Amino acid sequence: MTDNSLHPIDITLHKASAELDISWADGSATRLSGAMLRQFCACSGCRARNLIGTRLITDNTAIADVQMAGIAGLQIIFGDGHDRGVFPWAYLRAIEAGRALQHLDS
Ligand SMILES: [Zn+2]
Repeated sequence: MTDNSLHPIDITLHKASAELDISWADGSATRLSGAMLRQFCACSGCRARNLIGTRLITDNTAIADVQMAGIAGLQIIFGDGHDRGVFPWAYLRAIEAGRALQHLDS
């Protein structure tokens, strides 16, 4: 992994506020809410929903846990048990930048 902007150093889950903080090797930091992560969940079902433009709002956007998905990214387990999404590092940065849909399309 040579791109420091895609190399996470610290990953902190704030369960009470449902926020995920990631510090990257290039010195930048990302904060993502459970609502954003759930909206742009990267599993095949949620991806399809986003690509056809359907918004599915659930009232449970708590983050129960995060785990490393190998070196590729994060698996996020939401409070309602939805755990099918693996979020690659570049995709997390795209969500932060408001480019999640473009990222899925490319
Ligand atoms: Zn999903």
